[in-house]
Amino acid sequence: MFDALVIGGGVIGGSIFRELTKYKGSFCLVEKEEDVAMGASRANSGIVHAGFDAKEGSLKAKFNVLGNKMMPKYCEDLGVKYRNNGSLVLGYGEEDYNTLLELKQRGERNGVENLSMLNRDELLAIEPNVQDSVTCALFAPTGGIVCPYELTLASIGNAMDNGGQLLCDFEVCKITKENGVFKVIAKDGREVLAKVVINCAGFYSAEVAKMLGDDTFDVQGRKGEYILLDRESGDFVSHTLFTAPTKAGKGVLVTQTVDNNILLGPTATEQGRSDSTITTPEGLGFVTEKVAKMCKNVPHFNTITSFAGVRAYCDRHDFIIEHSQKAEGLINCAGIESPGLTSAPAIAKYVVEDLYSKFNALDKNENFNGKREPDYFFKNLTDEEKNAVIAKDHRYGKMICRCEQITEGEIVRAIHENPPARSVSAVKRRTRAGMGRCQGGFCQAHVVEILARELGVSYEEITLSGKGSEIVVGKVK
Ligand SMILES: Cc1cc2nc3c(=O)[nH]c(=O)nc-3n(C[C@H](O)[C@H](O)[C@H](O)COP(=O)(O)OP(=O)(O)OC[C@H]3O[C@@H](n4cnc5c(N)ncnc54)[C@H](O)[C@@H]3O)c2cc1C
Repeated sequence: MFDALVIGGGVIGGSIFRELTKYKGSFCLVEKEEDVAMGASRANSGIVHAGFDAKEGSLKAKFNVLGNKMMPKYCEDLGVKYRNNGSLVLGYGEEDYNTLLELKQRGERNGVENLSMLNRDELLAIEPNVQDSVTCALFAPTGGIVCPYELTLASIGNAMDNGGQLLCDFEVCKITKENGVFKVIAKDGREVLAKVVINCAGFYSAEVAKMLGDDTFDVQGRKGEYILLDRESGDFVSHTLFTAPTKAGKGVLVTQTVDNNILLGPTATEQGRSDSTITTPEGLGFVTEKVAKMCKNVPHFNTITSFAGVRAYCDRHDFIIEHSQKAEGLINCAGIESPGLTSAPAIAKYVVEDLYSKFNALDKNENFNGKREPDYFFKNLTDEEKNAVIAKDHRYGKMICRCEQITEGEIVRAIHENPPARSVSAVKRRTRAGMGRCQGGFCQAHVVEILARELGVSYEEITLSGKGSEIVVGKVK
């Protein structure tokens, strides 16, 4: 039996899982997909928001500002790329200037430091590609960027390195409670016992709560579609550019990513109880139109892909992070829409220290090691370092992904480290193999071959992204 079971391998469940392993006890995370970071934590803007946007006094405001402060060290410990690039909210004329001023004041009341207003000349000096119609901007130097799935993978990997157990392909479909112990049952019949259940199931968190008779909240989906540009356009902007936020979200943004791509989007389309991530011509057209109002010379010719993520928001319009009002021992973390990624380290600390501690004593795990070696990218090494690495392991001398320059050694490492990659997409998220201009056209077959060899299975069993997405149907000869 586990002391705590986390349901959902997104950035929230992952951060809580890691935080739990700082203490003595046995901890497990279950995830319905074949890999973690497959929900909202896979497809979002990756912005470490400064915290001027959230309503004062809300959990969003509290955890955003705290999380923003914690993020640099959190990423450093986990070997995750983070960049403090600062963010700018663009304004067009006097009315917008006043809106931005209100945002600035709200930010200051939320505890955001060093916010300032910029005039057009000051803005142009740091972002030369903004449109002619932009007259002013709110500058938040504490804004940053991070790769959301890299952060999620690293948190979960570090929890596993510290003794946490991960079960994938474990779709929770029933939970019972007998003599104070939860029995969490998966669709395939597997069962896990736990004293405490922490519900981080994102879009499905209301369904999970209802399994224990808790119907106190509902979750709806709001889709965000994006356009991703190649790294060749990486210096098109250096800060994250927003327009003034609306009720539906923070609006369309233009930003660098930590891997030096340029990201445009997202839309904000209500879609009720659907978590479809299909992109549409209308959505991508909307993004293009909005971006044209923000920047000139947008290098659309460098578009390499489009994708979408779904915000899981609750009818209470704030994060729900609390002991269930209906089921003792259940902790709900639901409605974690933006700024959930930014808030994750702060939410994790609160959930473990203030909520989980009610059920189990927090005795420090003296063996906890919160540091994780960064997954170095071979291409970033000096020639001398490259030679040394190849001398130790010749597989680093074999280039598999030509666009992103990823070697066989890096792919093999991704398959064997925590959490292990078992599909082509899982390899892609960990190594970037297949993320370049050709989108896997050249390397996918090699990745399939390496996965099959390392996992000791046939080619036919290797999937793009879990059961039902098999790539090879059978042998021709
Ligand atoms: C378009 C968009 C843009 C965003 N931009 C930003 C941003 O720039 N900055 C920011 O701070 N935040 C941003 N966010 C918000 C951020 O992405 C989320 O707050 C965060 O990813 C939520 O993490 P989570 O772990 O709660 O949910 P998820 O990542 O969705 O994880 C939930 C997990 O639970 C699993 N699960 C569900 N049901 C079950 C079950 N029955 N059994 C087992 N597992 C189950 C799912 O498969 C999933 O992996 C954005 C979100 C979106 C969609």
